[in-house]
Amino acid sequence: MANQNETITLIGAGLVGSLLAVMLAKRGFKVEVYERRPDMRATDISAGRSINLALANRGIYPLQQAGLMEQVKPILTAMKGRMVHDMQGNQNFQSYGQRPEEVIYSVSRGDLNIICLNAAEATGRVNIYFNQNCQKVDLDNNQLTIKDELSSEFKTIAFNRVIGTDGSNSAVREAIHAIESSQHDIISLGHSYKELRIPPGPNGEFLIDKHSLHIWPKGGYMIIALPNEDGSFTVTLFMANEGEISFESVKTPEQVEQFFNQHFPSIVPLLPDLQKDFFENPTGKLATVKCSPWHFKDKALLLGDAAHAVVPFHGQGMNCGFEDALDLIETIDEYGDDWAEIFTRVDEHRKINGDAIADMAIENYITMRDSVTDEKFLLRNALAFE
Ligand code: FAD
Repeated sequence: MANQNETITLIGAGLVGSLLAVMLAKRGFKVEVYERRPDMRATDISAGRSINLALANRGIYPLQQAGLMEQVKPILTAMKGRMVHDMQGNQNFQSYGQRPEEVIYSVSRGDLNIICLNAAEATGRVNIYFNQNCQKVDLDNNQLTIKDELSSEFKTIAFNRVIGTDGSNSAVREAIHAIESSQHDIISLGHSYKELRIPPGPNGEFLIDKHSLHIWPKGGYMIIALPNEDGSFTVTLFMANEGEISFESVKTPEQVEQFFNQHFPSIVPLLPDLQKDFFENPTGKLATVKCSPWHFKDKALLLGDAAHAVVPFHGQGMNCGFEDALDLIETIDEYGDDWAEIFTRVDEHRKINGDAIADMAIENYITMRDSVTDEKFLLRNALAFE
């Protein structure tokens, strides 16, 4: 058994960090978590990106193992397939599978994160420190440099073992890769995204099918929409950064109006706040992170987007990060307190999966924006479910 008096330090209380904190605490560890942003339960901070996400079986199993699914179930909306919208407003439903369990679920990023934060604190073994920005990880001397975002003061914190769940610009990753002879690629997709919103109807009803992931495919670019519990949909436009049809070419209110009327006429009546949303919401850049190693000796490990940020077209970034967290726990169960072995094994198990999902996510961008309207693809899909 691992030494459960040991304290494990996490950087980042996002989706993966907060779930991992629950799992480690339930194994008896003390957990100290440093999070750069304010506490989302007390402050109205925007999720920053993807207000809702697709949760799949890969992510559900770790949530079950952490004992959280009973709390998570009520905030899930099942999506049974893709609803493909054409220029004329026709809709074509493509089922994800024949069996009732072959569905994915739309879930609010904020609500899911809050369930995990609350569950972590409820164990009585987790301290989460907000507004604490980890600026430097000194792996030689086991010390973190943390900046308090409110007072701007710096402090030094000692750690035994640090796990970087600090997302795609990870400070822990930077430290590991400064020491080891490492490979560290951040590959830009050259495409970005913008979130918009379809509000509920006058009686709170869903204006398009509640149980579908909606797609308006256009070849080189596309829109998707996922349902929210309140009857609204979070809509995401994915498009190139530069070129003839790109974020660069849609900059003024007139260009926005013309672009949507020309390329997405069937969604325009559903977007009453299009202009406001387009100009107020940030444009998020998309990139893949591939790096190696994911660990340093028995001191540091990367999990979630810190190790493998992927583009969102398979809806698997969070799901894969949750699997990472469970893999760490299962490996601790197997190797006790041999942390060098534990971190090496997790790196071996998960890196191969992280790379695979990164490549599949890029392939699925092509499928979603393009092939879902291809006749052969539609025929194959129809035959598969006959
Ligand atoms: P993050 O969610 O990035 O959390 C990292 C946390 O660390 C943050 O709270 C951050 O504030 C904190 N932090 C960062 N740096 C520091 C620091 N130096 N010091 C202290 N704290 C720090 N995945 C899915 O599975 N399904 C989907 O449908 C899906 N859709 C997506 C749609 C979009 C548009 C995008 C961009 C992503 C999507 N993803 C999806 C991917 C998913 O968002 C990520 O994989 C997931 O958020 C990773 O969780 P994480 O905890 O590893 O990282």
